[in-house]
Amino acid sequence: MTGAIPRYSALALLRARLSGGGFWSPLWTGRKLKDAYDVVVVGAGGHGLATAYHLARDHGLKVAVLERRLVGYGNVGRNTTIVRSNYLLPENHYFYEDSLRRWETLSKDLNYNVMYSPRGVLDLALSDGDMQDMARRGNAMRLAGIDAELLDLPALERFCPELEPRRQRRFPIFGGMVQRRGGTVRHDAVAWGYARAATAHGVDIIEDCDVQGLRTAAGVATGVETSRGYVKADRVLFATAGHTGMIGTMLGMPLPIETHLLQAMVTEPIKPMVNTVIIYVYPGHGEVYVLQSDKGGLVMGGFLDGFPSYTREGQWSRLENVVEGTVAVLPRAAGVKIVRQWAGTNDMTMDGSPIIDRLRHDNVFLNAGWCYGGFKTIPASGAACATLVATGTAPDLIKPFKLSRFQTGHLLDERGGGPFPVRL
Ligand SMILES: Cc1cc2nc3c(=O)[nH]c(=O)nc-3n(C[C@H](O)[C@H](O)[C@H](O)COP(=O)(O)OP(=O)(O)OC[C@H]3O[C@@H](n4cnc5c(N)ncnc54)[C@H](O)[C@@H]3O)c2cc1C
Repeated sequence: MTGAIPRYSALALLRARLSGGGFWSPLWTGRKLKDAYDVVVVGAGGHGLATAYHLARDHGLKVAVLERRLVGYGNVGRNTTIVRSNYLLPENHYFYEDSLRRWETLSKDLNYNVMYSPRGVLDLALSDGDMQDMARRGNAMRLAGIDAELLDLPALERFCPELEPRRQRRFPIFGGMVQRRGGTVRHDAVAWGYARAATAHGVDIIEDCDVQGLRTAAGVATGVETSRGYVKADRVLFATAGHTGMIGTMLGMPLPIETHLLQAMVTEPIKPMVNTVIIYVYPGHGEVYVLQSDKGGLVMGGFLDGFPSYTREGQWSRLENVVEGTVAVLPRAAGVKIVRQWAGTNDMTMDGSPIIDRLRHDNVFLNAGWCYGGFKTIPASGAACATLVATGTAPDLIKPFKLSRFQTGHLLDERGGGPFPVRL
């Protein structure tokens, strides 16, 4: 519960509306940057905000979140909102499942509607091999107590009739696997909800504050240099997602991370057509996924653009791949107009799994490497990362995500388990 957040009755809201809405006040802007904090969190994306919220709420620490642009300006406000826990490897599926459980109650916990929509996440099989991979992954999930259902053609037809699975196609549909509790969560609401709840617990969220350096003394970090001056901190957490490589450069410590573009696009609104999230690997084009937004637009995306970049300008060829792959599976989508396309910068690790660990100094921490699937992990990552930063000990859930795995070779690469899953 976030006790300090006021609750308004319907009558009070109506009165305020009629009187010009005067009682709305900014929720996290206007905070003054102090000289010193227990913890400075760099980056007001989903992970930075969620960790700050838990640091203040669960550990009673004085926290600042320093953001070079605006709350929600990064990937937390650019992703396609898919949440699920249908991973093969135990290190991943327990962590992602913890997050999915937290999504189920997050609106209540934050006292803010994040619009969790458990419409199901359907992996489509376009070959017999896909079906076998899904059976293996689904069995691994069920052994861990996570819901997964393998669908043959009649079952698929019942679950998602709009797919017309028996229709003739260049690449026929063989079946699929659904995780019914998977679905979508409104991404902006997640950023705003965590920002508001963190502020209510005393966190200072400072926008337009670029962190440019780390000050150290006797091998310990003492604070950060920022565009607004020096800020003392007992502990520093970097949660800068697509800019993590630059943080490595700033610290003189190259990280096994490359920044790549991922784009997505949305069509004009149409009547309800897709009642779930559909994901598949379209032969020759790579991953494709499609879902329908609350406004009715078909939201589509695919794989990375394929080269490191900070530009946020997606390549036309990838857009073409995604559209071709979508129309091939959903012919009824042909002719619907794309109205918007955008991209974000993703911090890709070599094995596609995140890094939540210490960096060089005992009191400097990293939360990064979310690749193209870090939105869905925000609630679990925030809680666990806060425990690591506050106590110095990583909870079991995030122990596998150490930086040292790239030295020891204990990689967590889901792709070793088959062509799936897409990590969106
Ligand atoms: C098109 C697209 C679709 C996606 N779809 C999905 C999906 O469906 N499901 C899913 O799970 N994931 C998805 N993702 C991935 C997901 O969005 C990211 O993995 C996740 O949001 C990254 O974590 P974050 O929210 O903390 O990052 P961000 O929101 O990027 O936050 C990092 C913040 O750090 C700030 N920053 C950087 N450097 C500094 C500095 N020096 N000083 C101060 N501030 C700094 C940035 O301005 C930024 O606001 C998608 C990503 C993209 C681009």
